Amino acid sequence: MDKQNLDLAKQYFSGFSKLNFEERLDRLIELGALSTEDKKFLSDGCKMDLSLAEKFIENVIGYFQLPIGVATNFVIDKKAYAIPMAVEETSIIAAASKTAKWVRDSGRITTHIVGKEVIGQIQVAKVSDYAKFKKVILQEKNNFMDMVNRDVAHGLVRRGGGVTDIIVRAVERGDGQFMGVVHVLVDACDAMGANIVNQVCEYLKGPIQELTGETVTMCILSNLVDSKVTHARVEVDNIDMTLASKIVEASLFAKQDPYRAATNNKGVLNGIDPILIATGNDWRAVEAGVHAYAARSGQYRSVTSWNIEDDKLVGKFEAPLVLGIVGGVTKLHPMAQMSLRMLGVECAEELSKICASVGLIQNLGALKALTTEGIIEGHMKLHIKNLALGAGAKDSEAPILQERLEKVLKETKRVSPSQATEILKEMRLEV
Ligand code: NAD
Repeated sequence: MDKQNLDLAKQYFSGFSKLNFEERLDRLIELGALSTEDKKFLSDGCKMDLSLAEKFIENVIGYFQLPIGVATNFVIDKKAYAIPMAVEETSIIAAASKTAKWVRDSGRITTHIVGKEVIGQIQVAKVSDYAKFKKVILQEKNNFMDMVNRDVAHGLVRRGGGVTDIIVRAVERGDGQFMGVVHVLVDACDAMGANIVNQVCEYLKGPIQELTGETVTMCILSNLVDSKVTHARVEVDNIDMTLASKIVEASLFAKQDPYRAATNNKGVLNGIDPILIATGNDWRAVEAGVHAYAARSGQYRSVTSWNIEDDKLVGKFEAPLVLGIVGGVTKLHPMAQMSLRMLGVECAEELSKICASVGLIQNLGALKALTTEGIIEGHMKLHIKNLALGAGAKDSEAPILQERLEKVLKETKRVSPSQATEILKEMRLEV
């Protein structure tokens, strides 16, 4: 990002969290992230057409709404973003924005993706002659690829993608025998690719059976996409070495201990899932892929790591984040369309890189808090609003109740829903 753009991004996001709802939307319009139509849609409560829901799923009874907010201060690969996040958990957006500001002002975020293809699987459960099965498929693979690219994946081929390779694997059955598994590698361009990959595999089922004489038992894509892995790197310059060492120790804990790794990765996904939801992407598919990748060595490990290099703290994220900016409901859901416009992403890879960056920044924010003041104070300060609401405080009572709960939190480092109810009762008796 040139200095002028960086200055502009700093200016627009300065004091963003202090703005009221309308001012926030106006600021995003000034930034070019929202249109006046978007503002009207958001101000009217995002009313959605029920007939659209009927097209998405079965037995529709309505819509479930989540809050959607904006993570600010992100500059990724020198480009500034306003990042839409649909999420119910308090403090995720605040922590992401705060940590992104730190890195924007004292470091940088860079990204890259290794590989292009997603994987489809064709299973022959009881292969009678694996060696022959493998040999004849590999002999015929160019012909198979030409056929499927011509008949099924021509739309992808036109865009520079399509089926690029076929691999044959033997997978242990657990009874001393092997099953034959064909992997079909597909560059799905800007789509996540599940439907198109499934169609590619279904198409190949007939020719494979005919050629090999074996019986294909199922065809489906794999969500463990180790053939397309997104990397993000965060550098913080001139870091306080005491803090950096604590973060590095926390990182080692998550690498070595699956109990900690699970929670570490949950925190990383706190940054990723809300963007997937906001953009209409299949977050179950990405979650499955991230966790499977985290366990690829045989032990579940963190998908992030932190080290000290010279006087810098350097963090890395590495996992498959396969998503689309076309396909699924990305083009159909009005909120997904708005979110994609807001991000201004030009391709699916760019969206994947943003997700990786936000995940890594979220991780840095959590590790910094955990190794210094702990996360309770920051999290609970924001959660106190929910506690007040949950206790049944009216609009006129909520600010006083929140203030009293904050005092309790400060004094005891703890605050609970029952305390909120109790204090509200006392407040009502005082009147
Ligand atoms: P899709 O079926 O809507 O198809 C995407 C289409 O987009 C492809 O035909 C492709 O040719 C086209 N395309 C690619 N790049 C393009 C571009 N730049 N411009 C215009 N068109 C382009 O979507 P999909 O991505 O194949 O499938 C995603 C859906 O599949 C999601 O809804 C997901 O929930 C679902 N799904 C997931 C799984 C799983 O993850 N295990 C399994 C089944 C289905």
